[in-house]
Amino acid sequence: MKTIAIANQKGGVGKTTTAVNLGVALAQQGYKVLLVDADPQGDLSCYLGCYDMESGNGTLSTMMDDVINDRPITNAVRHHEEGVDYIPSDIELSDMEVRLVNVMAHERVLEQALEPLRDKYDYCLIDCMPSLGILTVSSLVASDKVLVPVQAQHFAMKGLISLVKSIQQVRRRINPRLELDGIVITMVDRRTNLSRDVSAALRRAYGHQIKIYGSEIPISTKTAESAATGRSQLSYDPNGAASRAYQSLAKEVTQGERKNVRTEHQSALTR
Ligand code: ATP
Ligand code: MG
Repeated sequence: MKTIAIANQKGGVGKTTTAVNLGVALAQQGYKVLLVDADPQGDLSCYLGCYDMESGNGTLSTMMDDVINDRPITNAVRHHEEGVDYIPSDIELSDMEVRLVNVMAHERVLEQALEPLRDKYDYCLIDCMPSLGILTVSSLVASDKVLVPVQAQHFAMKGLISLVKSIQQVRRRINPRLELDGIVITMVDRRTNLSRDVSAALRRAYGHQIKIYGSEIPISTKTAESAATGRSQLSYDPNGAASRAYQSLAKEVTQGERKNVRTEHQSALTR
């Protein structure tokens, strides 16, 4: 299982929208996908139409509680009709974040909660909350890569330095396999010069240091509408530009994976 944290401490940049729609696009390509709601706001859970936490087998917080108390880990996974599985969260997760502070090796609890699911999925996407607190660091510890949605506006990259620093610290101290995968530019309005300029400026300024995905996610009123229906954009508006963009992002993500496997294989040969 490849675990990808979808993170940016800036709020409202399209993390949750990207987690849901990239996840469904990967499932449409035949991959087994697990989405993890690591945000106490529970936006990913709501997006997938899950409001009633009582009826299922608990939430991410239940699973983490089991880890802390050395109990067998509850399986809080739910299935969504569009072919993805997910672990929901609600405000209880913020109590868990507070409790984690006093737990030994607390940054590892989330990773340990997901451990029993490792062999069941090809991709696990973790929807992070807009902060660099314990829950986000825990998500980075559990991940192989970080995908950063960035909104097409000026100052979009402000704050990215602190995210990069957090990634470097997690890599040095806890999880050496973590890498910054790349940036996906979201909410691009092709009709405005500003949006086009920002996207071009981001690519000019940072494209040589950080991968910026070629697929850009256009702004679309259908995106917000789909969130209210409990379905992804891909089934709500299958032929829309944003749906196609998420499908092409999914292709880029899996191609990147295959390339990595090839280079690992080659380096193993030349070692
Ligand atoms: P938070 O930091 O609060 O978790 P986020 O980074 O997860 O936010 P989203 O919730 O995905 O961001 O998106 C923020 C808002 O922008 C939502 O109302 C969402 O419906 C809207 N939105 C996201 N992507 C698009 C898009 N491509 N076109 C139009 N609206 C969008
Ligand atoms: Mg969100």
